[in-house]
Amino acid sequence: MAEPSRDDVLAALSRVIDPDKGRDVVSLGMVQGLVIRNGHVGLSLEIEAKDAGRKAPLRQACEDAVAKLKDVLSATVVLTAERAQGAAPASPSAPGRPAAAPGARPSRPELPGIEAVIAVASAKGGVGKSTTAVNLAVAMAQLGLRVGLLDCDIYGPSIPRMMALSGRPETTDGKIMIPMENHGVRVMSIGFMVDEDTPMIWRGPMVMGAIEQMLRDVRWGELDVLVCDLPPGTGDAQLTMAQRVPLSGAVIVSTPQDIALLDAVRGINMFRKVDVPVLGLIENMSYFVCPHCGKQSDIFHHGGAKTTAAKLGVEFLGEIPLDIEIRTTSDEGRPIVVANPKSAHAKAYLAIAGRVLDTLRGGSQANRKPPRIEFV
Ligand code: ADP
Repeated sequence: MAEPSRDDVLAALSRVIDPDKGRDVVSLGMVQGLVIRNGHVGLSLEIEAKDAGRKAPLRQACEDAVAKLKDVLSATVVLTAERAQGAAPASPSAPGRPAAAPGARPSRPELPGIEAVIAVASAKGGVGKSTTAVNLAVAMAQLGLRVGLLDCDIYGPSIPRMMALSGRPETTDGKIMIPMENHGVRVMSIGFMVDEDTPMIWRGPMVMGAIEQMLRDVRWGELDVLVCDLPPGTGDAQLTMAQRVPLSGAVIVSTPQDIALLDAVRGINMFRKVDVPVLGLIENMSYFVCPHCGKQSDIFHHGGAKTTAAKLGVEFLGEIPLDIEIRTTSDEGRPIVVANPKSAHAKAYLAIAGRVLDTLRGGSQANRKPPRIEFV
């Protein structure tokens, strides 16, 4: 398929002048991580952190310049800024090199007004991570907390659909975005900024740039918990996020079969490596109860996550069955904790949310009381 060359893209960008410096973005060395794939062009524009609020027009000018080129199907430009002091590299690990020494937790600047940041992670896609993140976030809001939900799954952002939100977030004077809100949860997702059918091409530094903008250039307000739906996997992007996002802890979602759990162990080890506490393991699609005969089938081998959690000394947070109502409700934008709050599944999510909050508050497994759950 015809697509532009790197030289074509760089030539177009070399006509975009940064008005602050009076020179073009290429000769200023601002263009980073240029990726061209099947006509889709992605790159990041390196700026100084202090200029973040003012460079949106320059970002747009670069995007327009690239988009105009022949054979370009889409152009995505994101702003990235290195942290001024104590900065961790944008992409800290190289393939084949150990990512980080145990305990080598780089400084994670705190987010003002946000008490705790939790990652919901899975080592592979399709295990129900986003469904779990959404139901847990809404359940926490139902338990009376001020909750934000950040869709970090920039490769396939599904949170807007699961939270029935669309359109572009409003901004305050073009700089700070105001999160969208539904079901009592404030939400931000890259899905609000790009069309659903635009393929996402991201490299490590670009990923972090986008995530940091959604973390810091958003008026989250006061939050008790910010739930982050991480992209699936244990690769460089996930590791960078685990290091750079100021995480209070991570919740791992897995299906029960052995092969999925091997991946979950990898996920747990990834967080341990970068010194992020693992709050526990959730078994999703744990079992199936036939709606016709009521018989339980353990399609993916029920109970595997509990055994694995015990082996690894990680808390087992609970199990969620494979159920058609969980799928239909979350895919329709009314998570089951909203659509059917009295159902056993909603209660399971609420109980897990309570357990996560307890662990965050430092209750030990031995002396933890069951969470108080109030249904609205
Ligand atoms: P991931 O984020 O891990 O890729 P999703 O949360 O997007 O996975 O879930 C993938 C699909 O599986 C979605 O259609 C979702 O509705 C469905 N799903 C997730 N959990 C369950 C469950 N417990 N029962 C039935 N369907 C589920």
